[in-house]
Amino acid sequence: MRRHVLLAILLAAVAAGCAPQAERGVLYQASAVNALVEGLYDGHTTLAHLLKRGDLGIGTLDALDGELILLDGRAYQVRADGKVYRPGPDATTPFATVTFFSPGTTIDIDGPLDFVQLQSLLDKTLPSKNFPLAVRITGRFKYVKTRSLPRQAKPYPRLVEVTRRQPTFEFHDVRGTLVGFRCPDYMTGLNIPGHHLHFLTADGAGGGHVLELEIEAVRAEAGYVPEVRVALPREGEFGKANIGGNKSADIERAEK
Ligand code: ZN
Repeated sequence: MRRHVLLAILLAAVAAGCAPQAERGVLYQASAVNALVEGLYDGHTTLAHLLKRGDLGIGTLDALDGELILLDGRAYQVRADGKVYRPGPDATTPFATVTFFSPGTTIDIDGPLDFVQLQSLLDKTLPSKNFPLAVRITGRFKYVKTRSLPRQAKPYPRLVEVTRRQPTFEFHDVRGTLVGFRCPDYMTGLNIPGHHLHFLTADGAGGGHVLELEIEAVRAEAGYVPEVRVALPREGEFGKANIGGNKSADIERAEK
């Protein structure tokens, strides 16, 4: 009996020692956005790996197959058909950003408030643009317009080519959650500068990358994330690809 207890304690200690710590205050990202801009869509990082490094996040999936949302430690994939799928732990991503969400600030917002006004309000409330900011906003929306991206085949086109023909989706009088980040301008090349949010409806039936919105009544939670870890793909094309230079004009076009 006592031996079993001791064994259980030992196993728990070993497990805790092996597992990456559920560290708060760390923004973990797989690859650099410039690689995605140049069409490096092969997945290299599993969702299991991501979920050990964050419970909230956004990204895309292998072959640019839709929009990825990590919310409360669960992964959702909004594909180009507008439906939400639950990818398994072995699904991979070419680019994603996650954190263990630790909001320091809560704002209750009554609308009407559109996407631009929401960004201004967050900027006013959490003004330092020198730290990444993690955001989760839950409640009722008058309107949300999203997009998703269709799975691509090789040879992969550049991201701006794909987003030229992106399917969009509209939601009216809907409950749901916005998840995402505001990244500093100086992270251009690594991540998407400014606000970048994905949406998931409360019934888990729809969502996507946010293009427009109108808030009715929501609770916004946000927190600075003072440490950034970038894990670059060791294999595949990353080492050879031309991902240098300032691609912010391409990123801006791809975000709209
Ligand atoms: Zn997005």
